[in-house]
Amino acid sequence: MTTVTSTHDGAGSAPEAAALHEIVEGVFAWVQPDGTWWINNAGAVSGPDGTIVVDTCATEVRTRRFLAAVGAATGDAPLTMAVNTHLHGDHTYGNSLLPSSTVLIGHEAMREGLLTDPIIDGCPPVWQPVPDWGGVTRRVPSVVLRSDLTLFTGSRRVDLLHPGYSAHTTGDVVAWLPEERVLFTGDLIFHGVTPLVFMGSVEGAIASLGWLADFGADHVVPGHGPLIDGAALPGVLADVERYLQLVLRTARTGLDEGLTPLEAAQRCDLGEFAAWPDAERLVLNLHRAYADAAGRPFDLLEAIGDAVRYNGGPMASSV
Ligand SMILES: [Zn+2]
Repeated sequence: MTTVTSTHDGAGSAPEAAALHEIVEGVFAWVQPDGTWWINNAGAVSGPDGTIVVDTCATEVRTRRFLAAVGAATGDAPLTMAVNTHLHGDHTYGNSLLPSSTVLIGHEAMREGLLTDPIIDGCPPVWQPVPDWGGVTRRVPSVVLRSDLTLFTGSRRVDLLHPGYSAHTTGDVVAWLPEERVLFTGDLIFHGVTPLVFMGSVEGAIASLGWLADFGADHVVPGHGPLIDGAALPGVLADVERYLQLVLRTARTGLDEGLTPLEAAQRCDLGEFAAWPDAERLVLNLHRAYADAAGRPFDLLEAIGDAVRYNGGPMASSV
C-alpha cells in the first residue's frame, strides 16, 4: 500500500490530516482521521473509462481536498460515476461539488432520505463547534437501486449491493470489487469509533456483519476509522457486534425496568467501549432499539436532545 498524498502536521482531525491511500493499483481510499462526527472515509476506483467515486465528504473544504487528491492520483481522469453508500451528510453533502456530468447513484431510500434531510440547510447547535458545510447544495442520485447494480470502468467491475434490510440506515449500499477483493462498507463498519444505528436497526446492523464477512475481502474501507485488512476484519466485526449486543441488552433491561432511553444509557457501563470516541451515540442507538422493541415511533429530535443531555452539552465536532 502506498500513500499518494499525505501531510504530517499532527493536526489530528484537521482537513489536512486526510490522505489518499492506493489500496491496490488504481483503487483509492480517502481516509480522514479521526473518524468522529462528520469525518468520514470515501474512495475512488479508476479504470480505462474514467473514475468511479465512492461517497463525498461533509464540507466544501473536505470534499475539494478529496477530489483534488483523486484528480492528482488519476491524471485528472473524468469522474464518470459516483455512488453514495447512504444518506448521511458526511458522505453526501459534497455531492454538488462533483462535475454535473458525473452520474450519481444510490439506494432509493437513500435518495428519499437526502431529499428531506433538514441539516444540510443549517446545522442545529447540537454539535460544537457548529459545522459549516461551506458552498454545497443538496444533490441527490439520478440513478437508484433497490438490491444491486454493477458498474464498470473498462473491465474493472464494481458491484453495488444492498444487504436486503435496514442496518446503519434503510438505504445502505456497499461497493465491492470482486477481482481486487476490495470492499467499501460505508457506515456498516465504524472502526474504533462508536457505531451509530439510530436511523437503521440494531438487529439489522448485527445481521449485516455476517453479510460483510462473507465477501471474503482482502481490503476493507470502513465508513469511519482506519483501513482494515482481511486478516484483521473478523476482530473488527466482533468488536462492533459486542457493542451492538450491549445496546440490545441495555434496551431490554431498560424496557423491563421502565427506564427511558436516557436513563438506561446513564446506568449502562460501556466497559471496553468507553474509550471509543462519540460514546453519546449510545443514547441514539437506544432510542432506535426501544422504538423497534416496543413498536413505537422513533423521535429523532427527542433522541438527539437526549444525546446532548447525556453528553452534558453539545457533541464534539471538528469538521
Ligand atoms: Zn452514516
